[in-house]
Amino acid sequence: MLVDTHTHLDFPEYEQDLREVIERAKAEGVEYILVVGTDLPSSKRSLALSQLYQGLFASLGIHPHEASRVSEGDWQELKGLAREPKVVAVGETGLDYHYNYSTKEDQKVLFRRHIELALESNLPLIIHNREATQDCISILREYATSPLKGVFHCFSGTTETVKAVVNLGFYISFAGPVTFPNAHRLRETVKSVPVERLLMETDSPFLAPQPKRGKRNEPSYIKYLVPVLAQLYGLSEEDISRITSLNAFRLLGLGTNHRKGKVAYAIRNSLYLNITNRCSNSCTFCPRESLPYVKGHYLGLEEEPTPQEIMEGLGDVTRYDEVVFCGYGEPTERLEVVKTVARYLRNKGVRRIRLNTNGQGDLINRRSVSEELRGLIDSVCISLNSQNNEGYKVLCSPSHGDRAYQALLSFTQRAREVFPEVTMTVVDIPGVDIEACRQIASNLGVGFRVRRYNDLG
Ligand code: SF4
Repeated sequence: MLVDTHTHLDFPEYEQDLREVIERAKAEGVEYILVVGTDLPSSKRSLALSQLYQGLFASLGIHPHEASRVSEGDWQELKGLAREPKVVAVGETGLDYHYNYSTKEDQKVLFRRHIELALESNLPLIIHNREATQDCISILREYATSPLKGVFHCFSGTTETVKAVVNLGFYISFAGPVTFPNAHRLRETVKSVPVERLLMETDSPFLAPQPKRGKRNEPSYIKYLVPVLAQLYGLSEEDISRITSLNAFRLLGLGTNHRKGKVAYAIRNSLYLNITNRCSNSCTFCPRESLPYVKGHYLGLEEEPTPQEIMEGLGDVTRYDEVVFCGYGEPTERLEVVKTVARYLRNKGVRRIRLNTNGQGDLINRRSVSEELRGLIDSVCISLNSQNNEGYKVLCSPSHGDRAYQALLSFTQRAREVFPEVTMTVVDIPGVDIEACRQIASNLGVGFRVRRYNDLG
């Protein structure tokens, strides 16, 4: 499934063949399309289209170009429409200092009115920003303590702006230009956007992607963005489609919120097994309780699966590069399940089986567990998380208290003797002394890897 989060299908370019345009989008898997208004008549047309076609939704707004001309009557009428059920956003709004068709002051006033409307209606903002980043960000910062949310559409800013936008809690949407051969700088910027904040759009009828560049754009062309983004993030095309659809759902309510916890979930060419949500830690950076998603997969389990249920749901496991015991929970909380399923995977000829663990398996099971996993697990990834016990307790709140940190070090020592590959990991968050952690891993004779904060999977 794909979601086109910004189009102008109400424009005259589609007068002759809108139905065909929508059918072509559907045929390419674009199930949801946001039609974005740019003034009162355009917002009304967008709303009418959303009411006429399934899968279309509307955003109401008055473009900053119109800021000096908009009448109070138009604004009040637009506000009145925001209650319609198919309206899912406010905009396009923002600031445009490139053309300055309206004065900066008028643009700022209108932008603030849109923000207030978004807050009153509990809807996200669709933001247009051209050569006005500083003012745009500082106005949004005035609302930093409010529940305001939104997206910077057709983003073309710098990595510095990405940081500011992400810190505000906003999403960032890319359109056709990321596919242009000479858009090297823009593609570098894309990489700095956390994939959990990434959206895709066509901005139809403008900015058709390669290889349709120069032609009228349409939502079905969003497919040309997917391989480019997949390559930039080192993910599969399926990953990008799933993640951006979930992001669209979380911001706009478009798409599907897959709230059934997955036991087996694929990212790139690895299959991950989420066998429990129980964990002997409660790490500050873990979204297990609050938002248990990883790369667009929902991992909140209502019930723990039996080994039979896990094995039956796996399909052809040999097509993956590796199978990893890793979910929102500590796999060794269910050691017997790990053993049974790993044995099954081994018999099926899986190339590589990995265990991601907090290293407290011995404490949890009250015995040394490494030997029991010999021959079943090829690679073990242990979350070291801190350079010492005190730091570990602050970051991970282990239920085993002071014993946890020492237990993970001892587990690592034994694991090195048993498994072909052992790696310790840390997350790059303040307070973690990466070099001291690297030294601990080196002293223990195991590999070491730094994980980016908030980059799971
Ligand atoms: S050890 Fe892993 S699953 Fe457990 S709380 Fe920490 S991050 Fe979450």
